[in-house]
Amino acid sequence: MELYNIKKLDLEGKKVFIRCDFNVPMDEFGNISDDRRIRSAISTINFCLDQNCSVILASHLGRPKGEVVEKYSLIPVARRIQHLLKRDVVIATDVVGSDAMEKVSNLKKGDVLLLENLRFEMGETENDEELSKKLASMADFYINDAFGVCHRAHSSVEGITKFFDEEHKAAGFLLQREIEFFGKLISNPVRPFAAIVGGSKVSGKLEALINLLPKVDKIFIGGGMAFTFLKQMGYDIGASLVEDDLLQDAGHVMEEAKKLGVKFYLPVDVIAADKFAEDAVSKIVTAQEIPKGWMGLDIGPATVRLYREGLNDVQTVLWNGPMGVYEMDKFARGSSKIAHFVADSYATTVVGGGDTADLVQRIGVDDEISFISTGGGASLELLEGKILPGVAPLIISEG
Ligand code: AMP
Repeated sequence: MELYNIKKLDLEGKKVFIRCDFNVPMDEFGNISDDRRIRSAISTINFCLDQNCSVILASHLGRPKGEVVEKYSLIPVARRIQHLLKRDVVIATDVVGSDAMEKVSNLKKGDVLLLENLRFEMGETENDEELSKKLASMADFYINDAFGVCHRAHSSVEGITKFFDEEHKAAGFLLQREIEFFGKLISNPVRPFAAIVGGSKVSGKLEALINLLPKVDKIFIGGGMAFTFLKQMGYDIGASLVEDDLLQDAGHVMEEAKKLGVKFYLPVDVIAADKFAEDAVSKIVTAQEIPKGWMGLDIGPATVRLYREGLNDVQTVLWNGPMGVYEMDKFARGSSKIAHFVADSYATTVVGGGDTADLVQRIGVDDEISFISTGGGASLELLEGKILPGVAPLIISEG
């Protein structure tokens, strides 16, 4: 799959709209806790600036659902870009309102403008044509460098591409790199190939799990999503996170795994807590003995040993989603142990998803991972063999 290449565009002195993914994790004080996604976008931005372009940057942050929500403002992101680019970055107070439009029309060569959070506009997630049109009207060229949202048909990702012909749109360097990497991984993974899947919800990853089954040799489940599977197996999971409406689907995943000969691992013990808090009382219990009213917030030490054992011979590891509530020190140990093991292994290791990328960075093993993808959902969908809606319009058709 070859994408329109930014290097082939005649950008000199023009206005370029770059859809970035600045959806970065922030702490409770609004500080950016992992700026990998911003750093990853810098090469594309600099490439345009080197050609005297004026650059319009656009991204979403969080889920403000079409309303202006102060905590989702991109102001901290603008500051960080400014710091990384070592040049002034102007931020518009809106997306396609009068302030943004005025600032766009005043842009001079070499200027950088960041629009406010795209999802302050309701139309963004609805792929609204009017919004796409207004965004497109800002620039001569469209560059997509937002791999993390390419699995979403949103206005600034999919709709907008209709307003640029093939000589005026392309993938940025980050998007190009992600697509190339996953292309190789799907077509020829070195086996055994294992997926470690964690995080809070089965719902978000169910389809991915089903589609991953024919591709991988082993699956290791962790995080909150493990409890839906454990409950389906008849375990009493106490007050742990569960999606009751997905019990049957969870059963189906396990049956499919069996049919396909995929080794399906579930936690055998957990760190159970009496409440969802850092100061909770906690203890290690087997998956069979979670006390009533207690919740499993991390995988236990026996599970860590089991997963290490199972991961010992794998040659390719894809990891998406933490093993526990890693944001709280008390429940970060399972994720941390698995992260160290994955980082130390000689396998090709791939980490996908904001949380998992944040996790390996916090632990300090990010340099040891073969590839850290900026997109969790997007990378899973790629591995499922889907053509992402944000990527499809940028593919050079063969023949
Ligand atoms: P996701 O966005 O689905 O990848 O989920 C990531 C989140 O899952 C993190 O914020 C974790 O704190 C949370 N998480 C992981 N394990 C558990 C658990 N056992 N119970 C509740 N939340 C969890």
